[in-house]
Amino acid sequence: MNILVLNCGSSSVKFQLIETDLPIIEKNADKCLASGNIERVIGQALITLQSEGQPKIRKAEPIKEHINAIDYILRWLISPESKINNINSLADIHAVGHRVVHGGEKFTMSALITDEVIEQIEDSIELAPLHNPANLKGIMAARELLGPGVPQVAVFDTSFHSTMPETSYLYAIPYQLYRRHRIRRYGFHGTSHRYLAYRYRQLMGLKREQVNIVTLHLGNGCSACAVKKGESLDTSMGFTPLEGLVMGTRGGDMDPSIIEFIRNKEGMSVREIDTMFNKQSGLLGISGLTNDMRELLAEEKEKDDRRAKLAIDIFCNRAKKYIGAYLAEMGGADTIVFSGGIGENSPLIRSRICKGLEWMGLSINKERNNSIQHGKEGEISTSDSKLKAFVIPTNEELLIARDTVRVVKNAPRRW
Ligand code: AMP
Repeated sequence: MNILVLNCGSSSVKFQLIETDLPIIEKNADKCLASGNIERVIGQALITLQSEGQPKIRKAEPIKEHINAIDYILRWLISPESKINNINSLADIHAVGHRVVHGGEKFTMSALITDEVIEQIEDSIELAPLHNPANLKGIMAARELLGPGVPQVAVFDTSFHSTMPETSYLYAIPYQLYRRHRIRRYGFHGTSHRYLAYRYRQLMGLKREQVNIVTLHLGNGCSACAVKKGESLDTSMGFTPLEGLVMGTRGGDMDPSIIEFIRNKEGMSVREIDTMFNKQSGLLGISGLTNDMRELLAEEKEKDDRRAKLAIDIFCNRAKKYIGAYLAEMGGADTIVFSGGIGENSPLIRSRICKGLEWMGLSINKERNNSIQHGKEGEISTSDSKLKAFVIPTNEELLIARDTVRVVKNAPRRW
């Protein structure tokens, strides 16, 4: 089957066209036929398109709405310009898999999109006001452009974490707030953590229940997950993606009393403070320079910038704290898995996070660590390290495509 994977943000549409099917999944022979993204929808959009074996195409064109962006992508996919074998008409696109950020408590697995499912995703809008509306726009647009005969599947960022016990997901605030408003930890990046757990199991030849690892997704957004017996036991993002690790522009954990204090001192509204915590904090907030880790590392190295170094140190310290907390919570684990743009590409950040954890039995092999970046995967710890460390490039799109096939074919859906 040819599956179009869509990830719609508030002003962007990312896509991949993936050829996969149940026997292909068995053989691990899925194929990405094309990928790309359209940024700055609702203006002069920046379009990047690439099909297998072809150079990247970059264009700028006015695109008004998500539906226009998806229409643009579909037209390109079936056009001779994309040079994709066997994709000549819309009938060659067999199903669509959507990344949906919030599934609330309802969706513990990926789901075939029906009118009822759309209503339930709408019900979760108040939990993810920035993300779910854009995901819904993508769903409605794909339905309109491809017709109701093409099945669509929603794959939720929250689903993998639905196995968390109450001890992980409840906040220690009055219980009735959970009962009345479902205020709890949901966790995000679930498709990424699930992929990492799945891929680790595959690399090590383990059964699902033998997977005991801490996964660190370190990109512009960052989160950690304690994966015990193959399931999410705890994760660092919470009611929203703001909690937990230091991220590009989000600060992660902090004392909620700061909100009232800032409100009084700075005369800001709660909404403005929330925006500041989401968009102007984290690496950007501390350094005052950038949310981009690569640039911060360059500033630190070339200009010895004090605040760039501080931002990186706080980032690494927070990640280290979560590793310690999760190992304690899990009663030990076998491996720490690094992923995301920073986790996959920066040996220096990995070694700074792992520094001082030798007492836990974690020993990093410098050569292995330095050799694994830019899409490579493998172990970065020494052969005799008691606690191991791995790098695994994440692949959320692949899981979305595979889930889509499984849902459409009514095959078992757990990884
Ligand atoms: P993502 O959101 O997963 O695309 O990750 C984006 C983050 O990865 C940005 O902070 C980038 O600076 C960072 N990143 C990408 N490549 C590198 C690298 N070689 N070294 C350090 N950070 C990197």
